[in-house]
Amino acid sequence: MAASQMEKALSSEDFAKYPFLKHASKQIANLDFTISNLSSEKTVFDRALNRVTCAINEMHTGKMANDKKTEISSFAAALILVIATKNSWIKKRYALAVAKTAHAQMLNEKIDTLTAIAKDFDWDICAGSPYKDFRIGFTFYLRNAAHMHGIEWKLVNQIMDRGMVYLNKDKVIRLLQEEVKARVEKRLDIPEIKNLPEEINLIANDLVRLAQEQIGEETDNLPKVVVQAAFPPCINALYADAAASHHLSHIGRFTLTAFLVNIGMTPEALNELFKTFSDYNERLTRYQIEHIAGERGSGTRYTCPQCSVLQTHSVCKNRDELCRRIYHPLKYYVLKQKSLKSA
Ligand code: SF4
Repeated sequence: MAASQMEKALSSEDFAKYPFLKHASKQIANLDFTISNLSSEKTVFDRALNRVTCAINEMHTGKMANDKKTEISSFAAALILVIATKNSWIKKRYALAVAKTAHAQMLNEKIDTLTAIAKDFDWDICAGSPYKDFRIGFTFYLRNAAHMHGIEWKLVNQIMDRGMVYLNKDKVIRLLQEEVKARVEKRLDIPEIKNLPEEINLIANDLVRLAQEQIGEETDNLPKVVVQAAFPPCINALYADAAASHHLSHIGRFTLTAFLVNIGMTPEALNELFKTFSDYNERLTRYQIEHIAGERGSGTRYTCPQCSVLQTHSVCKNRDELCRRIYHPLKYYVLKQKSLKSA
């Protein structure tokens, strides 16, 4: 689909709903706001701040503004706010919130609109195939389904013909969610923006505090007794590897340690677990555990990475039904613990 055809297939309402599309970015370039006047554009700025705080607190991007221009501009402004935080948790969280919000909206879209959105990501896609709603080039399938772990996503379980994978609407939308997340993460992958107005830096600091509260709330709600039956599948796999003295990758070891510290395992008990490792070094292990537990250095207690990060590093394993409802292994632990109690 040529660029002009795509712009016809998508309306300005669509660009407001999906402001991460390339053609929406073109519209932002024509709008009248810059980084230096950002905080004085009150409506745009308020909506941008609302986007980011909703993402941190509730994992969606909040209620859309009535005015389409405000909505599109606020997307760009929110990216600036998120980059200004220089906080990787907020960046990941915001990208995921944008992707999940888009997913919910795409469920109500017609086939033509979904095709146009997929084309914006350069997908090879055709609607109205004989078997399913769409057929897409298998490289686009593989690129995005790599993050999905249910057997329903395995390539062998798809209908394929001449390099095209046949899919229904719900699966195409789920794959598009991955594209959206990756695109927003890429746009946020800037270490800093120089010469930001002081007001923006102050608000960015507030957002970091809000994120710390949110992470703290998630870990404060944890049960006080370690319940191994409530471990998520990824942690069970790491724990089993650790207990069998198998080698753990750096991120695997950090994830296991941070998870166990946050659910209340003592540094002594952790040290005992890691003693079985062939590369065990008591002084170094104690230092790492105490550092993660916040008993050394800055005093910050680290939490384990969220699921999207663990998926990228192949630490996410044996996902189950509950994994579909959570975004962080500690959240899994809290929910599983509750369901075990009520069983
Ligand atoms: S989805 Fe999250 S909790 Fe579940 S196995 Fe993967 S990383 Fe662990």
